[in-house]
Amino acid sequence: MKYEIAVIPGDGIGPEVIDAALAVLKECETRYELEFKYVFHDFSADLYRRTGIKITASDMDEIGKSDAVLFGAMGLPDVRGPDGLELGAQVEMRAHYGLFASLRPVRLFSGVESPVKAKDIDMLVIRETSEGMFAGLADKHEPSNESASDRMTITRATCEKLFEVAFSQARTRRKRGTPGHVTLLHKSNALRSNVLMEKVFDEVAARNDDIGSAKFYIDAGSMYMVTDPGRYDVVVSENIFGDIVSEIAAGLVGGLGLAPSADVSLAHGVFQPSHGSAPDIAGQGIANPTAMILSAAMMLEWLGERHGDDVCIKAAKSIQSAVETALKKGPRARDLGGTAGTQEVADAVISALSA
Ligand code: ATP
Repeated sequence: MKYEIAVIPGDGIGPEVIDAALAVLKECETRYELEFKYVFHDFSADLYRRTGIKITASDMDEIGKSDAVLFGAMGLPDVRGPDGLELGAQVEMRAHYGLFASLRPVRLFSGVESPVKAKDIDMLVIRETSEGMFAGLADKHEPSNESASDRMTITRATCEKLFEVAFSQARTRRKRGTPGHVTLLHKSNALRSNVLMEKVFDEVAARNDDIGSAKFYIDAGSMYMVTDPGRYDVVVSENIFGDIVSEIAAGLVGGLGLAPSADVSLAHGVFQPSHGSAPDIAGQGIANPTAMILSAAMMLEWLGERHGDDVCIKAAKSIQSAVETALKKGPRARDLGGTAGTQEVADAVISALSA
């Protein structure tokens, strides 16, 4: 089948890792009956700094007409809006497309060393992305030199959608041999918004009682993430806790360079690595493109499921196993202790794909 993919390379290492992922997708086109038409969108914090041009709602409508969006990274520490916050399109895109769940699979690939002893690390962290403090809702008064605040609002409607996704993902994962279990990480002993979240979780868990469930306070749950990560299958949390916990989880399996992510709603999917624009290493050709390549594989999986296209799902699986082979055989990217650059890592995945 033929798919139109909107591509937003963005800032920092975004364009570098996007190039690597597109090279891998090109190899898939030669091996499978797949065709991609790419429509590139030149939006970035850097463009905003140079020209004042920002993504508008009509740009987002245009981008949203594609079958899926591949997104590198957006935002630079020194490009800020009038509110002092880093300028990026993620929050607006999530609102515009109704994206509310960021799916972040975390698996220890053989050949990659974990900083912890446990080896049974295979979980899916689901971060809510439309509410909580990250949604950008300010409190009633303007920030001043003396005080500033952010508001954490959580709604029943979003919690219900979020937890249904978590239980359905656990069911899908169980078919692959994982336990089929959902854990909520929250702070209902201290935050009113989390009291509601926990209540809705209990209700949704009762409706999905073929799947096991557990709840931990975010502080203890973060400790277990490091001391006993094998206890987690699907982990779900609100926006800011989910952001932090997904990066702790990524750290267990080799770091951000290996951490893919998919922001989904019923109609839209935006696929981007969990990492940001990494300005400290941008332009040097040393970023690890694996997270972006695995995000492209998640895109193929999502397209395959939506369109009943088995070829897409097969291509997604072959990218995942090519990444696994490349990680085992090398060469290794610098964040994994090797010396390989972005291109070399992508070439290793491509040659594993065509082997
Ligand atoms: P954001 O808040 O926008 O997600 P961040 O503050 O978490 O961004 P990143 O840009 O993700 O920051 O970078 C965090 C660290 O991880 C940096 O030192 C960066 O160089 C490193 N890093 C991120 N992505 C990669 C990658 N693909 N390959 C190698 N190192 C990376």
